Amino acid sequence: MSDRLSPGGVVLDADRQTADGAPFAPSPVFASTYHLTGDPTGRPFPYGRTDNPSWRALEATLGRLEGGEAVAFPSGMAASVAALAPFLHPGDLLVMPADGYFATRRYAESVLAGWGVRVITVPTSEMTAAPFAGARLVWIETPSNPGLDLCDIAAVAERAHAAGALVVADNTTATPLGQRPLGLGADLVVSADSKAINGHSDVVFGHVAARDAAHVEVARDWRNLTGSIPGPMETWLVQRGLMTLDVRLERMSTSALTIAGRLRAHPLVRALRYPGLDDDPAHALARRQMTSFGFLLGVDFVDEATARRFLERTRLIKEATSFGGAHTSAEQRSRWGGDAVMPSFVRLSVGLEPVDDLLSDIEEALS
Ligand SMILES: *Cc1c(COP(=O)(O)O)cnc(C)c1O
Repeated sequence: MSDRLSPGGVVLDADRQTADGAPFAPSPVFASTYHLTGDPTGRPFPYGRTDNPSWRALEATLGRLEGGEAVAFPSGMAASVAALAPFLHPGDLLVMPADGYFATRRYAESVLAGWGVRVITVPTSEMTAAPFAGARLVWIETPSNPGLDLCDIAAVAERAHAAGALVVADNTTATPLGQRPLGLGADLVVSADSKAINGHSDVVFGHVAARDAAHVEVARDWRNLTGSIPGPMETWLVQRGLMTLDVRLERMSTSALTIAGRLRAHPLVRALRYPGLDDDPAHALARRQMTSFGFLLGVDFVDEATARRFLERTRLIKEATSFGGAHTSAEQRSRWGGDAVMPSFVRLSVGLEPVDDLLSDIEEALS
């Protein structure tokens, strides 16, 4: 069976019942409790906070895509916290990107630092050569959100492991079909499945994946003890969205490359980041470690007024936070105050609309 998910080859189908009359599609399993007799040790599904068949079904698919074992969480942040908190102790050193997802950085610099974890931040583009001596955990995010800088996952993993540190990669922007950090040496992967994995802008979700069974157990135990659990309905929706990730990613990344080429040449655009452009500073690295350059563009317009005009005048491109959905959306990222980006910078998430319609929308808005 192919490692890639395709509409005709959803990985779970091999394990599902094929008898006449059996439902073709899975249904969410709503259960807080299960029949459980005698000694509960080592038995499947003891209680709804501990385990759920819908989680297991989605985790099997995600694990196969990641090249490890996956644990589902109710949001990307819940997954990120599960890959940080139980792996760090007072006095430990955490190295993390200065330009990654701002809530993760804020969590580390407030909660973890308050518990005595030492936190240092390094720009993603300098992560490959950053000092890791004494680090317990190295967190990377590539391409970074929102700046779309890259770091070399294999090189970071090699140096971090030599220093005795664990490597966790936030793979949200790439998705496991665009890049597989576990195969490149990362110990854990986290993903905000609220974005492209669910892909329909209607669920907040996340997962952790790891190669080492002990790391998987830490994340699963953290979920059980903190009660940070996803609902079966959301889990089922993510499973349904995941079925089309391959075709969505292909359409979105093809359109993103076309739009990137057009916008880069536009006189009202000062600079543009898209790892798929052959003159992007990270293009050579992207070619080495990514299998899809993704659907996100970082567009720096000539000034803030032009950025605002773009957001207000485009009709197909909706102004919204988040990304990876079926609809094209864009955001002036500086409006949150958490990222060191210019007010002229817009993060554009290319969706599934016909690319010619998107191009004319953009041309008209900027004319
Ligand atoms: C959105 C996002 C998160 C957080 O995910 P939520 O589901 O919103 O909690 C984490 N990392 C990155 C890179 C993100 O873009």
